[in-house]
Amino acid sequence: MIPYGRQWIEEDDIEAVVNTLKSDYLTTGPKVAEFEKKVAEYVGAKYAVAVSNGTAALHIACIAAGLSKGDEFITTPITFAASANCGVYVGAKPVFADIDPKTYNISPTEIEKKITDKTKAIIPVHYTGQPCDMDVIHRIAKEHNLIVIEDGAHALGAEYKGRKVGSMSDMTCFSFHPVKHITTGEGGMVTTNDEELYHKLLLARNHGITRNPEEFENTSELKDDLTNANHPGSWYYEQINLGFNYRITDIQCALGITQMNKLDRFLQRRRAIAKRYDEAFAGVKGIITPYVDAAGESAWHLYVIQVPAEYRKEIFEELRKRGIGVNVHYIPVYQHPFYQKNGYRDVCCTESEKLYSNLISIPMYPALTEEEQEIVIKTVLEVVHECFDKYAV
Ligand SMILES: *Cc1c(COP(=O)(O)O)cnc(C)c1O
Repeated sequence: MIPYGRQWIEEDDIEAVVNTLKSDYLTTGPKVAEFEKKVAEYVGAKYAVAVSNGTAALHIACIAAGLSKGDEFITTPITFAASANCGVYVGAKPVFADIDPKTYNISPTEIEKKITDKTKAIIPVHYTGQPCDMDVIHRIAKEHNLIVIEDGAHALGAEYKGRKVGSMSDMTCFSFHPVKHITTGEGGMVTTNDEELYHKLLLARNHGITRNPEEFENTSELKDDLTNANHPGSWYYEQINLGFNYRITDIQCALGITQMNKLDRFLQRRRAIAKRYDEAFAGVKGIITPYVDAAGESAWHLYVIQVPAEYRKEIFEELRKRGIGVNVHYIPVYQHPFYQKNGYRDVCCTESEKLYSNLISIPMYPALTEEEQEIVIKTVLEVVHECFDKYAV
């Protein structure tokens, strides 16, 4: 089976992990800071906080944003559930804004329709790696005083109007799951340019504990909570918030560092694969290839095709039977039983549901060879043609 996505691990990655295993630090040590610096510099952000996975990154971003009970935030239904769950963890209510049927990303017009006096944040997702319309989203956020947390899990290395995703909003969250652009096994990161948010993220990652009250000298809100006068020794540490243990290990970050060295090569490969699929499927009856917005440069986490809804299941099952590990990204989040049980039965985002009924994700990962890609193309064309012949359309 050729999977829809997978990691690419080479000898230097293995060596880096083994070397860390032989070092003094297994968990938080020098590799964490080095990995954070590397990602921050790459995306053009001042600060980065690495955590145990992408969902934890989204969770601590919601904590740092001050999202809580009574607040609403707006996100897209066409995403992995974590983009909405992260706000539910802190008691806030996800409100789903429909997608733009052309880009498949959240529609800024639909965002505006969903804003109420409870709205506190927008969580746009750069679906498949294509950046959302960030200028318009930032303008809306500014007008309504909203925090923007980008879910950049699909978009490490993506660019919007010449700027890398990760440098533009209050916070951006990444995932290093094996199907993403680089991997640490499990892992995630939040990038930000805001010092106060940075300190809140650090606290949320590590139980709400600080060892260094001077960190908060520029952070008015947190400074007032510190009482280190009571513990004036060098054993000092205090828990000032309720945080979590979302730390990532040095072992994982050693892998993250060697993987980051290859990110541009990986992205080049993803872009070449997308181009080849675009060519192969252009003008083919029954297949719609992704629209590419000129304002951005996609990181191509996924390559999704649309096929007619009435044949999607048959085409999907047949591709799996013939060894192509296709997938569907995503079931609209509010359709999951958890959301249905919790007040979303009447929600309907027409464009999202329409897109969902047509979608198939086909293999897209840098280690996919040209020969494998040709097999994928041939099989997809065969299966779609056979299906059309069968029903004589
Ligand atoms: C992968 C992913 C996440 C979560 O990342 P994990 O590292 O698996 O927790 C969040 N949002 C989106 C859109 C993703 O694709």
